[in-house]
Amino acid sequence: MHTILFSELGLSAPVMQAIDDIGYEEATPIQTKAIPLLMSGRDVIGQSQTGTGKTAAFAIPAIERLIADGDRGVQVLILCPTRELAMQACEEIRKLTRHVEWIRPAAIYGGQDIDRQVRQLHSGVQIVVGTPGRIMDHMRRRTLRLDKVKIAILDEADEMLSMGFRDDIETIFTDVPQQRQTVLFSATMSPEIMEITKLYMTDPEIIRVVRKELTVEEIDQYYYNIPHSHKIEALSRLMDVYHPEPAMVFCNTKKQVDELVSAMQQRGYVAEGLHGDMKQQARDHVMNTFRSGKVDILIATDVAARGIDISGIGAVFNYDIPQDVEYYVHRIGRTGRAGKSGLAFTFVTGSREMAELRGIMNYTHSEITKSSIPTSAQVMECRRLRFARNVCAAVENEDLSDYMEMVEQLADEGISAVEIAAALLKSEMTSGGKAAMPSEADDFAFAGHEYRRDRDSRRQDERKKRCDGRRSGRRGRSDCPTVKIYINLGSSAGVLPKHIVGTVANETGLAGKFIGRIEINERYSTFDVPQEAAGMVIDTLNKTRVMGRRVNARLFNEQY
Ligand code: ADP
Ligand code: MG
Repeated sequence: MHTILFSELGLSAPVMQAIDDIGYEEATPIQTKAIPLLMSGRDVIGQSQTGTGKTAAFAIPAIERLIADGDRGVQVLILCPTRELAMQACEEIRKLTRHVEWIRPAAIYGGQDIDRQVRQLHSGVQIVVGTPGRIMDHMRRRTLRLDKVKIAILDEADEMLSMGFRDDIETIFTDVPQQRQTVLFSATMSPEIMEITKLYMTDPEIIRVVRKELTVEEIDQYYYNIPHSHKIEALSRLMDVYHPEPAMVFCNTKKQVDELVSAMQQRGYVAEGLHGDMKQQARDHVMNTFRSGKVDILIATDVAARGIDISGIGAVFNYDIPQDVEYYVHRIGRTGRAGKSGLAFTFVTGSREMAELRGIMNYTHSEITKSSIPTSAQVMECRRLRFARNVCAAVENEDLSDYMEMVEQLADEGISAVEIAAALLKSEMTSGGKAAMPSEADDFAFAGHEYRRDRDSRRQDERKKRCDGRRSGRRGRSDCPTVKIYINLGSSAGVLPKHIVGTVANETGLAGKFIGRIEINERYSTFDVPQEAAGMVIDTLNKTRVMGRRVNARLFNEQY
């Protein structure tokens, strides 16, 4: 849909200045629709997904109204389902009101010292952002008066209902004047929500950002069909190869979150968990350490992570396939925000989950590509490359003189520099108990599982193997389906089998023994690789030169 610049919205100078300070230029689709409507005073029901900028969509018009009226007292009430969301919304409002000194927002939520909140409310606040329980506390203590409220906003209304705040909303609204503007935002619409809107809203206008705009086009989505028992290894390998930190991993249960957190910690990853059973203080702590970059992997349930805005997530993992298609969009919407492309990995186990995955693809109108867990060779190669890069960077950029002296001392004692480096490398690569080397046995397990699911192609493959077997016999895993890869270089370019083995092994990290029958023709060559490695091998070779010549690699097709 068409969006507009904030400068086209006729906003007041201080708000426009604040928006410039934050750096927003274009209004998001929901903001484009909501801001003019809300400024006209209408009641509005807004539906759009997490991360689409709903806070500013309701906060900007509310602030404009405050500026226009110039009245004192609490005039805007925003209800949020969780403390994190209240804090986050309050923070955004604080930024937006930076240049209007007399407008002060307050976040009012449970778990924080109530006397402090009382003092804050007493000192003069115009915008209250809070969770229902604590707001009712203050209403009872008469430390919060709602009789001047002109705008009431329900943020994440669906979540508020699912957390059982239905009656609290009712209680709070009895104290808010009837003459008011009411705004409701929700990621989903349900009969319960519609009932709320009937009770508290007057002739509301419904705005909705259609699905296509709010998903996932910018996100590269992959799935892996693996047994449950392999998920931890799979997650580790994907983390090692893609290095997407910070990453978010979603599980369906609190128990799974706890188990996975300790498993990943044991493997040496810096991971923390987030779920509803945790004390508020612990949750805040986890969120803060994750935001500040001290934690690489946040493992969470849907509810705990719902609506929390964290930007710059490198990848989202659906460790468990989400129980609801909407959750899928919520979850992966956290990666690739603000125009950056993101990564989403989904683990599925068994045919029932495959069917669910197909449901997700239909619902999101997106393609989720089947992929294979990186092999142990690839993982090792990635670790090696990263290590080499770090070493080079350190040599180039850091003052190593003290350390060089230490090495020289050791060298005087007869230990060679290579031995010293190797010992350090070993401890580096195995630090924190991280499995020293991913095991090839697991490669077979990953592979074996996939092949059972793919019986037809396996049988086809076996037929092919029997034919090939007569001529080849060397290399290759007998139980592993392979595909033939074509490259545009042959004997006329001086290519020999060892060049192919060497290049593939060096460039892709695929161990030589996985490279099957090689055939060198005059103008091209072909060789077999395990099916699950083919995409990676082709991609890598296409960026490589063999014997100084640019490679054109693709799947071999007899017709060419
Ligand atoms: P929602 O409530 O829909 O989940 P938020 O209001 O939390 O979304 O906003 C999500 C993120 O998008 C925040 O980091 C916010 O700063 C950013 N954002 C909001 N509006 C804009 C905009 N117009 N341009 C760029 N970024 C924006
Ligand atoms: Mg929000």
